This record gives sequence, structure tokens and C-alpha cells, in this order.
Amino acid sequence: MLWAQIAMTAPARPEPPEDCRLCPRLAQFRDENQRAYPGFFNRPVPSFGDVDGQLLIVGLAPGLKGANRTGRPFTGDFAGDLLYGTLAAFGLSEGTFAADPGDGLKLRNCLLTNAVRCVPPENKPTGPESKTCRTFLAARITSLPNLKVIFALGRIAHESVLSAVGATRAAHPFAHGAAHRLPSGVHLVDSYHCSRYNTNTGKLTPEMFRYAMAKAKGLMG
Ligand code: SF4
Repeated sequence: MLWAQIAMTAPARPEPPEDCRLCPRLAQFRDENQRAYPGFFNRPVPSFGDVDGQLLIVGLAPGLKGANRTGRPFTGDFAGDLLYGTLAAFGLSEGTFAADPGDGLKLRNCLLTNAVRCVPPENKPTGPESKTCRTFLAARITSLPNLKVIFALGRIAHESVLSAVGATRAAHPFAHGAAHRLPSGVHLVDSYHCSRYNTNTGKLTPEMFRYAMAKAKGLMG
């Protein structure tokens, strides 16, 4: 399917409303978190970075005490340390990451988003929740005028991107460091998710993460 066709079916809005309740379980979890942690962000976490950039990084979902607390993707928990450190090393950010949305950090030529915008219990969105929020991911992708590369963090993000752009999993199997050409000509590069679990178990090392990011950067032209 061509992206022009997808754009006709995706909502015009690439960011969900602050009170989005399309996923009842996640909306209820937000309500519970609002009561338990009234100082947290507790809303769909918006994308962060440069909407005119060539690179879109797609994570899985906000962490309860990370992005759901701070309101910025990958900010406030371990995964952000590796991600933002790597972006800085590749010249894709400006300023110093201090795990706080007030740190003044800016992304250069790239935008960061999540496949599912609301924090899921135990970091696990259901299939229907991923599908529901994918309408925003599809709109986000089609809204980027200079997009050349999508960098997917983990298999779920990879598969959500494929579904969002109408590409098949069979033609584009997930593998760390793999690069795929999507029907629109945009490249998709895969990485294992930069979670604490993956780095603690050695599934993903900083070197492996830099390898995949280098591939994405190289395809940006
Ligand atoms: S996950 Fe996405 S679709 Fe579901 S309630 Fe949150 S913003 Fe809405």
C-alpha cells in the first residue's frame, strides 16, 4: 500500500489528545496513576524533537516512572541514558541530557516517539492497544516531510511501523541492525530495545546500539 493511501485512512492528527481514552485499560491505568502519583505527567506522551528531521525513532511505550513521570519520551529512566547518549555521539542532539524535560536538550534532524503513547501496566501493551494507537503512529509518519529513516527500538515497534505503513512482516523480518526498504522508499533500521533488562543481560551492548544507529545515520544521506 502506498503512503498516500494510508494518509487517506489515518487521522489527520499525529498526536493524540491529552485526554485520549481510546484504550479503556490504559486510560484507567492513567487514572490510577494520577491518584497514586499526582505529580506525574500521566497523559499520552507526545513526540519530541525535530518534525522537519530525516530520522524518526520509534520506541515501545512510556515507562511508568520514566516518560509517564516526566512527559518526554525516554526521559527519567535507564533506557534514556543509552539512547540520548548515543544520539549525542552521532550529532543528533544539542545540549546536555539531564533526564529532565527542563534540561534544554534539543534533537537535531530527528524526532522521537512511541508506538503506544500511554504507559501500559508492566510495560506490556496488548495487541489491540498497539493497533488502536497505531493510527497516531501512521499519521505521525505520514506527517514528516523530510523522513528518510525510521529507527525501531524492539520488535513490537518494528512490527507496529510495518503495519502503519502497510508493509508485511514476512518481507521485513526483525533483526538487530537489519535495514529494510519500505514501500515508500523510506528505510527502516531495527535495534533491540535499549531497556535496562536488555543491557543488563547483555542482549544489547552500547557497541551494538551504536552499530545499529550508525546504519541509520548512514542511510540518512
Ligand atoms: S495508547 Fe494511544 S490510542 Fe490508546 S488511549 Fe493512549 S493515546 Fe489513546
